Amino acid sequence: MPFIYRSVIQRSDPTPKARELLAVFPSMVNDCLRAGLEKKMSDFPRIKELCWPRMREYRVHDSYRVSAMFDAANLIKKFQTDSKRTRAGLPRVSNEYFSASLGVYLEAKELLLPGNIRTPLNGHTLAVLRAKGVEVVSATMTQETCSVIYRKFVQGVAPRGMVAVDLNLDNVTTFDTEGESIVYDTSALSQIHEAYRRVKSHFRRNDARMKGTVWRKYARLEHDRKLAVLHSVSSEIVKRAAAKKQAIVMEDLRWLRDMYRRRSGYSAYYLSKMNAWPFRQILHQLAYKAEWLGLPVVTIDPDWTSEKCCECDGLMEVPPVEGIVVCSVCGNAIDRHLNGAKNILRRGLRSGPGWSAGEAVTGSNLPGWETRARVDADNPASQR
Ligand SMILES: [Zn+2]
Repeated sequence: MPFIYRSVIQRSDPTPKARELLAVFPSMVNDCLRAGLEKKMSDFPRIKELCWPRMREYRVHDSYRVSAMFDAANLIKKFQTDSKRTRAGLPRVSNEYFSASLGVYLEAKELLLPGNIRTPLNGHTLAVLRAKGVEVVSATMTQETCSVIYRKFVQGVAPRGMVAVDLNLDNVTTFDTEGESIVYDTSALSQIHEAYRRVKSHFRRNDARMKGTVWRKYARLEHDRKLAVLHSVSSEIVKRAAAKKQAIVMEDLRWLRDMYRRRSGYSAYYLSKMNAWPFRQILHQLAYKAEWLGLPVVTIDPDWTSEKCCECDGLMEVPPVEGIVVCSVCGNAIDRHLNGAKNILRRGLRSGPGWSAGEAVTGSNLPGWETRARVDADNPASQR
């Protein structure tokens, strides 16, 4: 994984200079589109040769001339690909925007674009763009927003271990190859869900339009508050994994539906709490944050990870003790979330050398890989 590209967007008010460009840049792109389409060209160097004289007529910085031709070349390429499959309309830019990739810099708390166009950046954008190893690639402005594409050279980490992430109703439990287990409390998620459910239940009125607006507003607030909870948990997990140089093993998104199924038989109340849990979101965050730091991510099929014993694969029974499960075969009594995390870790370690995310990463980098793999292979109960 050489460069990883990301983007950050914020609100911004265009300065008078930026406003002039917003008005003229789409015409520049459309000029290039017309010329390029007529000559059936989509190759940037040829578009540049073809359109440069025309672009010189616009009184803008060279950087924007190049960007307009570049955007046009990409739009034509996309059009040519699309029109092979379906009848695509001729590309044309109608929204006001401009972009620049040459000569875009951070200066103090501003983004400096060619032609001395300055945009103040908010704290979040600044923190993102000033992070170690981050380079600004390009910027796109509209009437309301400024979005910046940035990149970082990410060196794949050769893991010294692995950490398993088990998602539960009220917590996220991790267990790693060093034997450390951490429980992250996420009960706030169902509290937030419940609070908004109660608020929204008051809006059974006749005014459908009013209800729609209010409903959407609360849905967004609820979503944002949940995201904040998830972000703090996923950041902490990835930060610890990075410090210990551990690969992350977690449930495969594709299996989520089965996870619901396997937990069927629970009460309606339980299932409603389940629905409050944005499982996909946290898995996505973990993968996204791990990638940025070069940490490999392993995904496994989570079927039976909570029902089987982490020691012998026997079926777990639920005694009348809160949070504990007991193995019907070997008698192992363990916290049920820890049992789940341990099973996920075992499955991650077993998932074979094919799991590596980068060429530097192989199963043999992990201590105990061979032994664990052999033990599992010898145990017929573990064969699925
Ligand atoms: Zn057992």
